[in-house]
Amino acid sequence: MGRGRITGLAVSDVRFPTSLSRHGSDAMHPDPDYSAAYVTIETDAPDGLRGYGLTFTLGKGTEVVVSAVYVLAAHVVNKDLDEIIGDFRGFYRQLTSDGQLRWIGPEKGAVHLASAAILNAIWDLWAKQEGKPLWKLLVDMDPKQLLSCIDFRYITDALTEEEAYTILQNGLLGKKEREEQMLKCGYPAYTTSCAWLGYPDDQLKQLCSEALNNGWTRFKVKVGADLQDDMRRCRLVREMIGPENMLMLDANQRWEVDEAIDWVTKLAAFKPLWIEEPTSPDDILGHAKIAKALSPLGIGVATGEQCHNRVIFKQLLQARALSYVQVDSCRLGSVNENLSVLLMAKKFQIPVCPHAGGVGLCELVQHLIIFDYISVSGTLENRMCEYVDHLHEHFKYPVVIMNASYMPPQAAGYSTEMKEDSARKYQFPEGEVWQKLLSDHSATKIS
Ligand SMILES: [Mg+2]
Repeated sequence: MGRGRITGLAVSDVRFPTSLSRHGSDAMHPDPDYSAAYVTIETDAPDGLRGYGLTFTLGKGTEVVVSAVYVLAAHVVNKDLDEIIGDFRGFYRQLTSDGQLRWIGPEKGAVHLASAAILNAIWDLWAKQEGKPLWKLLVDMDPKQLLSCIDFRYITDALTEEEAYTILQNGLLGKKEREEQMLKCGYPAYTTSCAWLGYPDDQLKQLCSEALNNGWTRFKVKVGADLQDDMRRCRLVREMIGPENMLMLDANQRWEVDEAIDWVTKLAAFKPLWIEEPTSPDDILGHAKIAKALSPLGIGVATGEQCHNRVIFKQLLQARALSYVQVDSCRLGSVNENLSVLLMAKKFQIPVCPHAGGVGLCELVQHLIIFDYISVSGTLENRMCEYVDHLHEHFKYPVVIMNASYMPPQAAGYSTEMKEDSARKYQFPEGEVWQKLLSDHSATKIS
């Protein structure tokens, strides 16, 4: 179990000026600066290990999440790590159910993102103390202990603890072979890096061609701003990748429900596997209507990167409103809440294809999906994890992609730790990168 008492929690606002090159641009977020509220926790244990955690933001607003982390810190500092992980369910509930703070949540928005950053740091520290990468810590955990990390409140009508136990027990069969397979071949990925909405056609073509040369076979295109543009770009990508490779579309919540059905029907000729976030992430019945209308065209609905919590996922699953569950390592309440969604997805037989990209999301979520394959789903059918090729150089243990697959991380922890130099340089607004950008008149627009 855990060692030491948590003696300090620090949080910083780290922003990367990605809007300058339109990386990450889509129909609703034309100029994101990929950012993070970045948490560090330390203990008085003689090992000197620290836990690092983050949650992903788009620039402005990171300071709000940072403030929320400071408010939540009172629930963490001066606690023994053992006390936290010995009753992780209780601690998760304490953190997310503060009698005053929950009014500005509960379990949603900035306060939930802040909880995720803190919990991610705790998981990182725990895995480091155990000397294992997080996926391996989870894989080696007894089913009962895994379940003791999950808050089942509000989901027992869809998944009881007993059902979850049975799923994990069944997952023990063939586990060793699946772990060996992961270590050998990795977890299949798809790329979103080729077709951000703000990229001109020439850049898109060049990136597709490079990706094909590097072995990528699954591609996602951002759509939703202009139908004619979408048709041109989808045609271009489909011609580049050929009929045999996979194409996914992502509208980032741009449409009304009926508009989504019409628009995607017009793009059906390009044979997309899914339409991602067609409308408001809160509109469960809207997603269900879209899913039903597009099903005869062979197009599924994917969503999750802005689903607040396990309750929204529960309802999407119950309403048959999605065909692909896109969990996010920093939107949900860390590993604890993601475990509950992985188990619900297994019960409802809906594949999990995690959301990644941003800054650090690939580093984190690879642990969850590798665990999912080894211990929960047991299959790779219809499954893949998003990959975006930005900002990995700022992490101490960056993702390793081979043959368009995530290779299981080897270093102990949750791969959350940034290089010290990067965290310092990109700190907002004091870091040297921002000092320079903000003093440049042309760049002030982006802050
Ligand atoms: Mg998306």
